[in-house]
Formats: sequence, C-alpha cells, structure tokens
Amino acid sequence: MKGFNALALCFIYSCGVLAQQAAADSAPTPELSESVTQLDKHPEDKPLEKAENIDLDKPIEKLPEPAVENPVPSSDDTDSVQQTDEQVQDSDDDYDDGVPFVLLGKEVPPRTATRMSWTPSQSFEGIAGSTPVLVVNGARQGPVLCLTAAIHGDELNGIEIVRRVMYDIEPEKLTGTVIGVPIVNLQGFRRNSRYLTDRRDLNRFFPGNPDGSLASRIAYSFFSEIIDNCSYLVDLHTGSFHRTNLPQIRADLLNSSVVELSQGFGSTAVLHSGGAKGTLRYAANMHGIPTVTLEAGEPMRLQDKEVAHGVKAIQTLMNKLNMLKKARFWGKPEPVFYESTWVRADYGGILFSQVFLGKRVNEGEVLGTVTDPITNKRHEVQSPAKGRVLGMALNQVVMPGFAAFRIGIEREEDEVIGPAVEDPDNLDSSGIDRSSTGDVAASDPDYEPETAE
Ligand SMILES: [Zn+2]
Repeated sequence: MKGFNALALCFIYSCGVLAQQAAADSAPTPELSESVTQLDKHPEDKPLEKAENIDLDKPIEKLPEPAVENPVPSSDDTDSVQQTDEQVQDSDDDYDDGVPFVLLGKEVPPRTATRMSWTPSQSFEGIAGSTPVLVVNGARQGPVLCLTAAIHGDELNGIEIVRRVMYDIEPEKLTGTVIGVPIVNLQGFRRNSRYLTDRRDLNRFFPGNPDGSLASRIAYSFFSEIIDNCSYLVDLHTGSFHRTNLPQIRADLLNSSVVELSQGFGSTAVLHSGGAKGTLRYAANMHGIPTVTLEAGEPMRLQDKEVAHGVKAIQTLMNKLNMLKKARFWGKPEPVFYESTWVRADYGGILFSQVFLGKRVNEGEVLGTVTDPITNKRHEVQSPAKGRVLGMALNQVVMPGFAAFRIGIEREEDEVIGPAVEDPDNLDSSGIDRSSTGDVAASDPDYEPETAE
C-alpha cells in the first residue's frame, strides 16, 4: 500500500512539474518562478486527472485505487469547493449544460458515472482501507445531492438503498450531481459493529478536528473532503440495539431549508428532531448544508420492504429537486409532522410487543407486556398518548427503564412546533459535553448511546 502511495505521489509530482513546465513554456514573458507563483494562485489552471466513466451497475473485479494524496494544498481545496457551490447556485434558475465536478482531486466530466475512493488522511496501517465513493455527474448543471450510509457499521439497509439509487441513475438524464457513500464506517462494517475499532461512535464527532482523536480526524477528513461539496445531504440510518424504525425522516423543523428538504420524500413520516451535537446531520446543518436523516428498519439486517421505501423516497426527492424526471407515485403524498415520546419499561423481564411499526394507537392502549421469568409477574406497557408507533424494540429481555416504544404524536402543519429538543434517546448522555472532539463521552466505557442516529 505504502509503495503504491509513493508511486502515486511520484506520478502526481511529475505531472505537476510537467504542467508547470508546459505553462512556463507557453507563458509569454514572466520568469519561471513567477509563473509557478501564478499557478499556485490559480489551481484551476492545473489539469486534474479525469475520472473514468463506468457503468456503476456492472460488477467490478478490481477495487478502485485508493484516494491519492491531493496534490493541491488545502486552501486550494476550498477554492474548488466554492467554485462548485457557485456553479450550483448559478444553476438554480438556468440549467446550463453540465460542468465538470471536482472531488477527491479528480475531475468528473458531465454525463459521467464513476467510482472513487476516500481514505481518511489520518489513517494508519491498522485501518488503512479505502471507502468507495460513487459519483454521477449529470448532463446539466444542478445541485449536489449527497447520500451517506453505514456511519454505524452494522446498519445495512442504507448501504443497499445507496447502491440501488446510485446504480439506477443514468447520467444523461440527471441534472446536477449525486455523491453516494454506501459505507462510511468501513471499520465497523467489517466487524459487524456500530462503532469504530476503538468503540467510538463516529456519528458523535462531526465536523471533526484534524488535531483531535482518531474518530475526530476521520470525521474531519470525511467532512472536509466529501460533505463540504454537498448542496443537500441525506444520512441513512436504522434503529440501534435491537430496535427498529418505521421509515422516517428526522429533521429539524425549525430550520426552513431543512423543512423544505424534509417534504421531498413522498409518503414518509417526518419526525421533528434537532439532532444530537456531533452527528453528521447536526454538523452539516450548522455548516449551511440542509440535511436530514432517513431511518429505516433495524440494524444487522437487510430488509427488502424498508430498502424499497428508502429507494423510492430518495428518487422522489431527486424528482422534487428537479434532478430526475422519473415520476414516483405514493398513496398519500403529504408527509406528516410528529413530535415523539419514548415509552420506557418500568419493570425488567421479557418484552413482548403487541403492536407493529406504523400502527396508530390510542392513549392507554397496551403496546406490549414485560413478564418476569422468575416470578411470572406480568406488567403492561401502555401508550401515554394518541399517536403512531414510529420505533420499537424487538422482543427481548429488558431492564427497568429500557426505551421500548417510540410514539409519534401527530401535529397539524400550521401548529407551532416547540424549540428543538434533544431526541429522548439522547437523554442518557445529554449531560456530557461532546462539543469539539467528543472524547469525554466516547472514552467512557459505559457510554452506550441509545439513539438510533
Ligand atoms: Zn445509525
């Protein structure tokens, strides 16, 4: 791997020298040193390696080459990002012909689908491994939609959702650009684990810190190299720890651009949630990139129904954003806004649910029972409100206080929504300051976030 990187670097270096020489040869009068300075100021003059146009749907025999060290200094990265943003903004009312899209030091021409790879720049031998990044750059200029999955390595439905969405896009018919990262946390995915190898939850470290912990550096690398390029972001998750979620959008409904985004997913429940600090969603929204989470199903499984819903929801969004013309029809077109409450078991024992995901329940309705296997005492878990089952635990042994059912309480669209509160899931850790690096929470061995996101 090292040898390869060295080779790649040599290649880039010599390319850079050749480009500089070529530019110096063609420059009318200035001396070489001046022309080099000028080139540094205008990195767009340097030809970037063009990404290969491939059929994403076609299986590959050989993995893409690891992301090479970007030959352009970081300040230049910002320039190229800004350039992309401007292109996106320009396109809002006028869809020009497509423009090249620059990502990870490569240029993706219009009408091109390609497979790149992102390697955290702070990687070391033990975790060296490149994460595939799929890019489809459309025939016309438009927004950059980003899809990320498996930030929690055991959440598999999103991986399949991204795969199906990306492989179904025809670059000729696309307006704008779609970036899909099917497996952000490759370390966790390989071990069937939610966490990074050091048991840190990557989704508590965004936007990351180049000088922070390993998780924080990985988060920083991902955020600056990929997420910074997005106009919109949909982060895909499932329930966590033997819980399952009705396909739903988690969105901060106090943020108007997020509200608009959340309404694009067809007949998908929308749950108002500010999002915990350190999550990719929170960080990206703070960064001005409208972001929502799409939750679907449970971890460790691939569920066809949930995957199909997710694919349809994202294709509907692309249609809504005028990126694709493919029409998708839903039975109920309008999303519904929810507040939610977690119902916890007051007694330990064996939990058996009596409801199913999506079921509408009344106040006082029995959601499930918890039976003590020793004493045979049985307790009912009742819904505290009229609402809908948006999330629930699978049948299992539970301890007192276990969050077993998430009940969504319907609200009219014009009803005032209260200030964004932390997900009830996060109450267990809300006293811990996870600003900047999140090291405090993550270094606590007992830290076991209940949140799905
Ligand atoms: Zn998750």
